Amino acid sequence: MDRRAFNRSMLGAGLAATFGTSGALAAAAESLSKITGDLPAITRTGGETTLSRAAIKEFQASLRGPLILPDNAAYDKTRAVWNGMIDKHPALIARCAGAADVINAVQFAGSNDLLVAVRGGGHSISGKSVCEGGLMIDLSPMQWATVNPELRRARIGAGTLLGELDHASQQFGLATTTGTVSHTGAAGLTLGGGHGRLARRFGLAADNVRSVDLVTASGELVVASARENQDLYWGVRGGGGNFGIVTSFEYDLHEVGPTVLNGLMMYQFSDAKDVLKFYAEFSQTAPREMTVDVIMLSPPGARSPILMLSFCHTGDFDEGQRLIDQFRAFRKPRVDQVSPKSYLEVQSSADANTPAGVLYYNKSGLMGELAPEAVDEIVDRLSEAAGQADPGVASNVIIQHLGGAVGDVAPGDTAYPHRDARHDFLILSGWKNPDFSEQNIKWLRDAYATIDPYTIGFYSNHMVDSDQPKVRLAYRGNYDRMVQLKNKYDPQNRFRLNANVQPTV
Ligand SMILES: Cc1cc2nc3c(=O)[nH]c(=O)nc-3n(C[C@H](O)[C@H](O)[C@H](O)COP(=O)(O)OP(=O)(O)OC[C@H]3O[C@@H](n4cnc5c(N)ncnc54)[C@H](O)[C@@H]3O)c2cc1C
Repeated sequence: MDRRAFNRSMLGAGLAATFGTSGALAAAAESLSKITGDLPAITRTGGETTLSRAAIKEFQASLRGPLILPDNAAYDKTRAVWNGMIDKHPALIARCAGAADVINAVQFAGSNDLLVAVRGGGHSISGKSVCEGGLMIDLSPMQWATVNPELRRARIGAGTLLGELDHASQQFGLATTTGTVSHTGAAGLTLGGGHGRLARRFGLAADNVRSVDLVTASGELVVASARENQDLYWGVRGGGGNFGIVTSFEYDLHEVGPTVLNGLMMYQFSDAKDVLKFYAEFSQTAPREMTVDVIMLSPPGARSPILMLSFCHTGDFDEGQRLIDQFRAFRKPRVDQVSPKSYLEVQSSADANTPAGVLYYNKSGLMGELAPEAVDEIVDRLSEAAGQADPGVASNVIIQHLGGAVGDVAPGDTAYPHRDARHDFLILSGWKNPDFSEQNIKWLRDAYATIDPYTIGFYSNHMVDSDQPKVRLAYRGNYDRMVQLKNKYDPQNRFRLNANVQPTV
């Protein structure tokens, strides 16, 4: 079967939902870019090229979503991503209305050997979803979520944000593992693994993926599942965007809520070391229904940081209270906000703390147990930040609780290898004045360097430095198998703006 016939038959066989609506068509008509001449662009390998006016026109005509060029009024808004540090200028942006647009965009990139960036929710902290001079394939118009409550499955378009997936699922008292901030993109989060409040009970977001529709580097639309293209199915569960562009995801759902036991306990920072050491022990043996994340915040201008524990218990209420009472008994919190709340409310409760457009930098690493020496370092470094950081900086230490069902899967069963991790440790700073960027990044790097010896690997979704030794630590023992997959599905490394596995053919 030739490629076009294959694509048509795939699309006819149930993928039609990924096509755009008349609304998308109207949006396309409104924002048609005027193509007045040839365009300079950057190739896959960083060379310079020129796209002819005729080729761009033909590409534009092939899309149902708008093609945004630099002189379009929507260009700056469309190229902007969550991290305000990132300021890149693609030669063109294809706002994809559905899988057909993605196929045409990948084929256009292939014919012109263009550098490609793929944008889902745009929350890559290192700004991997936008590029300088290449083609940005923007999936953000592909936002839809459907739920089959009987089969307990959800299907979403690749531009869908976590909040929409949770909202659609909770309508039926169901949920799957997502992340902790509802404006994050489901695509990037899931492809890298997906740590969230339900992971200890139901596994990673990626562990709940039943199937994906994916456009390969050669522009073919394929299904990857336990039955079809099993090698790709293995790779997309942790391997990021290395093997193709996912146009839709299908997830398993579970009964959750709609009310869960949730909230913050805040402690004097002078209690931080004791409370964290107590937490370190508790977190190893906690039941799977209980997730306790740590947030240490040094707000702008504050003299002392704040220690908060964020509880989420999705099981029996009395059992949840009994577990949380252990913390109350150990050390009385200054503020105790733990109470029954709607799961949906919980899932967006941290949204306002990480607004888009602020200048962000982060470093992170995965840990096994939270060693007492690591606790001492973390608390001391954050105390320093409170004394020294400029008034515009908020420095957060976030320790996400892993383990439980995440560890039920063997490291080689999916591309995500960190089944032994018990905590995801992250330092994230955000500030508004670019004059402070150098000093803030330096503080963060120095602070992280003292924690690094306690880490056992890197979560690809939090990486900012994607040099090859780091990428190997992100994929650990699965790296060589990923290279084989890359050789098969993307031998030219078209999809390189990610925690990149480099092909060897
Ligand atoms: C505020 C905030 C909160 C976060 N909280 C969590 C959390 O609780 N748990 C957690 O695990 N992570 C969390 N993260 C990290 C998050 O998982 C990553 O930033 C993730 O990459 C975001 O996905 P996205 O689609 O929004 O990103 P994008 O920037 O759009 O994409 C990220 C990467 O994935 C690729 N990509 C995106 N869509 C596709 C696709 N459809 N097909 C192929 N490749 C694609 C991109 O090319 C890029 O390399 C958080 C990040 C932020 C900024």
